[in-house]
Amino acid sequence: MGFVGGCEPWAVVLACALAWGDPSPSGVGDPYYPDYGNGGMDVLRYDLDFTIEPSDNALRGVVSLRMRALQELPLFHLDLIGMDVDAIEVEGVDASFTREARELVITPARAIPADAEVDVVVRYHGEPEGVPDPAVPIEGVGWFWHGDSIWVLSEPGGSAGFFPCNDHPSDKAAYTFDLTVAAPYVAVANGTLTATTESERGVTYSWSAPEPMATYLVTLAVGELGEKRIPMADGREVVLHFPKDAPEKRYAALERSGEIVTFLETKFGPYPFATIGGVLSSLPIGAALETQGRPVYGQSAGASESTVAHELAHQWFGNSVTVARWQDIWVSEGFAEYGSWLWSEHAHGRAAYDREVAGARTFAKRARSRPSGDPGVKQMFGVPSYQRGPLVLHELRESLGDEAFFALLRAWHEAKKYSNATVDEFVEFAAARSPHEAATRALLRAWLFDTVMPGN
Ligand SMILES: [Zn+2]
Repeated sequence: MGFVGGCEPWAVVLACALAWGDPSPSGVGDPYYPDYGNGGMDVLRYDLDFTIEPSDNALRGVVSLRMRALQELPLFHLDLIGMDVDAIEVEGVDASFTREARELVITPARAIPADAEVDVVVRYHGEPEGVPDPAVPIEGVGWFWHGDSIWVLSEPGGSAGFFPCNDHPSDKAAYTFDLTVAAPYVAVANGTLTATTESERGVTYSWSAPEPMATYLVTLAVGELGEKRIPMADGREVVLHFPKDAPEKRYAALERSGEIVTFLETKFGPYPFATIGGVLSSLPIGAALETQGRPVYGQSAGASESTVAHELAHQWFGNSVTVARWQDIWVSEGFAEYGSWLWSEHAHGRAAYDREVAGARTFAKRARSRPSGDPGVKQMFGVPSYQRGPLVLHELRESLGDEAFFALLRAWHEAKKYSNATVDEFVEFAAARSPHEAATRALLRAWLFDTVMPGN
């Protein structure tokens, strides 16, 4: 949240000339998504207490969040779409609220002083729906109700469809989840299972995810789920979840998650999270999302080794080092797809890697896409990210040599672990560590920002 700077209150903030666009109570100033997130606050922790009935898609939620005011706040916003809000408390005192599109506008009984930390509790209920998004070619992102199961894939703005939050990747927080469901359903979220508690309402599954997490990486899965724990040689374990009736071949690649993480650690450095796992969903889509510590896979994606390698590479790049603004998507997708190419090289030989490079080059050339460093909303999840994106890193590797290139990737992750980054920050980080600073900067800038891809 550094971009709010020393400017306060709102009248002054709005007058500040910021590279980001202006933050306001209703948005952090993201150039691609001006009304995503909310200025003036830093959420430190979310506790999501949900009672879920998957057979009729009913959610009753109590979300407690601890936030720090970055300036005096006579009122503040959270993002929430749909749902009926029943009551809101700030520091245990009833607060008034109004709704405007995706904004939940909260007026506490007394203004929150600058730098104060307060607890906010929002009670609500309803039937969550997916959030339409111009970047994603499906009906909506976030909450997917499918038969009597629920899956969550929220990138970029779907979390606001089921819980009140500061829905922008620049504000990461720790999470706990208490998910109550009746048998035969099971509820899974990010992190580690800390308790299962039986009551007359059913079973409460408590999950804890203490490492900083962006809202779009929050996931939960509810359904008749099976679980498989696969021990790794070093004592860690891979925890997989899947629809109970799913044949094992549907998650055959997920079963290799431990092996893939162990390989990626040799290139990127230590895996940044406490949990390694994956959720195979029943969703009839070929896509997957790198939800933190536990990616979620479409029905046909769990058998794809390259998809699993991509989602696991995201744990370093995307999840631990997260986009500062959505236009910085290359620091996430370019690196994750390159991670998938590296797995290809490791598992199937250099010829397989060369085929990835050649394929992406041909495709990117034909597609005449926007550049990876500023792909535009509509191409965020297109050629600039998945073809031209990894090619940028391939060119950098060719230029620096393997030793310096992989040392750079490890240093970048170490420097930016659990925080946010822009594309420009990577360019300057790489240039500063290169023996040929100007040449490395020029190469990266051309590959990331030139409209026509170099060599064409
Ligand atoms: Zn990805």
